[in-house]
Amino acid sequence: MVTLEGIPVSPGIAVGRVVLMDDHRRKARLQPITVQEVDDQLQRLEEARQASLADLHRVHSEAAKEMGPETAKVFLFHIGMLNDRSLIDPIESMIRDQLVNVEFAVQQVLSDLAAVFGAKTDTAFSTKTDDINDLADRLLAELRGEQGSPLDHLTSPTIVVAQDLTPSQTAGFDREHVIGFVTELGGRTSHTAIVANALSLPAIVGAGNATDTVQHDQLVVLDGDRGWLILDPDQETLEHYHGLVEQRRVHALSNEDLNKEPSVTRDGVAISLVGNIEFPSEIERMQRLGGEGVGLYRTEFLFLASDTEPTEGDHFAAYSECVQRLKGQPLTLRTVDLGADKYTQARTMIPERNPFLGQRSIRYCLANPAMFKRQLRAVLRASVLGPMRLMFPLVTTLAELKHAKMLLRDVMEDLDEEGVAYDRSIQVGMMVEVPSAALMAESFAREVDFFSIGTNDLVQYTLAVDRTNERVASLYQPCHPAVLKLIRQVVRAARNAKIGVSCCGESAGEVEYALLLIGMGVRTLSVTSGSIPRIKRLVRSVSIEQCERVARKVLTFDSDAEVAAYLRDRARKIVPEAFEGRALGAGG
Ligand code: PEP
Ligand code: MG
Repeated sequence: MVTLEGIPVSPGIAVGRVVLMDDHRRKARLQPITVQEVDDQLQRLEEARQASLADLHRVHSEAAKEMGPETAKVFLFHIGMLNDRSLIDPIESMIRDQLVNVEFAVQQVLSDLAAVFGAKTDTAFSTKTDDINDLADRLLAELRGEQGSPLDHLTSPTIVVAQDLTPSQTAGFDREHVIGFVTELGGRTSHTAIVANALSLPAIVGAGNATDTVQHDQLVVLDGDRGWLILDPDQETLEHYHGLVEQRRVHALSNEDLNKEPSVTRDGVAISLVGNIEFPSEIERMQRLGGEGVGLYRTEFLFLASDTEPTEGDHFAAYSECVQRLKGQPLTLRTVDLGADKYTQARTMIPERNPFLGQRSIRYCLANPAMFKRQLRAVLRASVLGPMRLMFPLVTTLAELKHAKMLLRDVMEDLDEEGVAYDRSIQVGMMVEVPSAALMAESFAREVDFFSIGTNDLVQYTLAVDRTNERVASLYQPCHPAVLKLIRQVVRAARNAKIGVSCCGESAGEVEYALLLIGMGVRTLSVTSGSIPRIKRLVRSVSIEQCERVARKVLTFDSDAEVAAYLRDRARKIVPEAFEGRALGAGG
């Protein structure tokens, strides 16, 4: 691999094939003319001037649209010069007085003028040389009736390599195919560089004898950040730069545009991004931000938002509203997870002393079967309206899971007897959010259709840290190796049993943690809607192999600090844009 170096004048990366421009200015030859031929030559000058003016007006209005009026002003300057008699008169006089052909007169007068400007030390003047040369080229091309260039009819990503380029050549590039350029001449403040910047076209100038070194159609990488032109890049270099190009493209997208992009890794593996919701009204935002469905519907909020226990009708109304709003996207509904911090202690006659270890969640439902069955009836009735899955929270023993499934079967039988329709093959899953469930994942996997890992609780129960207690907040570490080992065990059990596994804890919405989860084999991340765009940007910037490498390394560490530091470092390198302006905190 050979790398040419030049002055980086417009940042960005471009990978493509070279079109070499033979732009060494061809000298116009002196041809003496007779007195009778003078009018004819003056007429040709006028025609070339008019044609150039028409072309410049067109280039100016296109450039103003694409680059903004300020940058496009350079073409107004060219128009001004062509209308300036003090420029045209000397050309006419030379034709008349010295009896020379119009091409020679144009070249002589304009190159003398360029030399005057070029001799000034002030860059404001010296850059005018480019403009005058540009104008001379334009007039000479008109006079020669030149049409066609190697840049016409491009079909693939092209990097133009030329001795020099004029601002109008640059502005006139076929933007669909020309993705960057390299010139041997030129400086940072030349109008060509300014135009390149305005067009966001990666560019290098002052690149030695580039036109003698590169070949037409050669594969090259143009690194406009560093000023490098890498010839015949090897596979590793190509992959590195392709990755950078995709990363930048994705990070430049607005959330709205990103919404239209699929959530797939660079090597084409789909990572399903779904949202966590508490209320049906949140679905629209989740969809707007690119979510593909609901991965966790915390139905207990039906209880928490009302003073009285919801009726079967209340449940049904909420679930049907979700299905209707989802318009065919899947809904994963979690049965009520009341208790602990999600239950007003005032409601219980005798408050529990240790509610996080008390009758919460599935335990509370199993202890209140009438209430639980009301919810299950509503879920099943709504299951015919659209794709829906059901999962039980905080399962700690197989007996609990079997008990919950038995109650579900009871409800199904009741509905059968009543002739009420429901989805008989509704998928039934469980949250894995206590260590006992994770450690017994293989046994649980035989009983459910899918797992959803809830890191919020898994961290608190693994590390014995109350997730709501600020005094021990520093001990609440999703990166703790013990938590990671449990997650690994759950993912393996799911893979062996060929059932789905997702993660719906808050950590799944953190870039570093999502990187790790993907590396550990999780293919569905359920996050709060606001995190969907940043996780999609991550997904589109990484390859599975990169994530797996990170996961393998992380699992060798034995402290949460090491894990967090490594993840932060890797994620910053792989997706630096994700961290712009963001203070880091792993997990949470
Ligand atoms: C979890 O524990 O990770 C989870 C998603 O459930 P919740 O936050 O509702 O307890
Ligand atoms: Mg939980």
